[in-house]
Amino acid sequence: MNRFSLDGRTALVTGANTGIGQAIAVALAEAGARVLCAGRSEPAETLARINALGGAAEAVPLDLADPLAGGRVFEGLPPVDILVNNAGTILRADAVDFTEEDWDAVIDVNLKAAFFTAQGFARAAFARDAGGAIINVASLLSFQGGIRVPSYTASKHGIAGLTKLLACEWAGRGINVNAIAPGYVVTNNTKDLRADPVRNKAILDRIPAGRWAEPDDIAGAAVFLASPAAAYMHGAIIPVDGGWLAR
Ligand code: NAP
Repeated sequence: MNRFSLDGRTALVTGANTGIGQAIAVALAEAGARVLCAGRSEPAETLARINALGGAAEAVPLDLADPLAGGRVFEGLPPVDILVNNAGTILRADAVDFTEEDWDAVIDVNLKAAFFTAQGFARAAFARDAGGAIINVASLLSFQGGIRVPSYTASKHGIAGLTKLLACEWAGRGINVNAIAPGYVVTNNTKDLRADPVRNKAILDRIPAGRWAEPDDIAGAAVFLASPAAAYMHGAIIPVDGGWLAR
């Protein structure tokens, strides 16, 4: 038995059209899963990459600006064994200037939608007496404060707490709930940071690995957490950060 194989499993990855979600979708497909690429943008590039390696994937339209939409998405789908709550957004402003609109926009997608998507996944799994795996995408800002991203930091601290709560409720019912906390990754999400020479240097100086992560650096942890190798993992938040938190 290959304990890292995902043969015969179906995974749904939110925000799979780009960045970390795309890398995770491709890696899960490489490990044998059929991947449902859920999001508000066409995941054409992700589907092409998965098809090129002989994997199975399809698009599932899902806009999490309606945070309850993720809970409903499972109603129309074949059984899903693995959920990756990856979709996320970030808005930057000084805390004294931060608006309610920017607070709600980030909390709705990053935290509220992640919860109701997990709830929809679990309800569908329990209805067919099945288990599964949920992998939430947390952040270094699940552990640290950061600056100028109050709703993002609150959402990612929330994701860490939610990961633990859901693990406590569902471990005994066959669902493994865990999270990955990526370090600083080259994606759309970090464009502004990388374009700021002062912030970019401060970040690089603190990363023991000496470089930003590529999305693919994050994907192996997702394959592990989705696989039988992680059967006894519950409520863990695994940093994949080039050593940032160890510093
Ligand atoms: P990204 O390239 O900007 O990807 C974000 C994904 O979320 C995109 O697919 C985006 O879709 C999707 N999304 C945003 N709002 C959505 C909505 N309303 N409905 C459905 N999908 C929506 O950034 P990324 O860095 O890969 O981010 C992926 C996850 O990693 C996020 O949860 C982020 O917080 C987390 N993370 C990133 C870093 C980093 O350094 N990059 C570090 C720690 C954690 P569109 O393309 O349509 O916008």
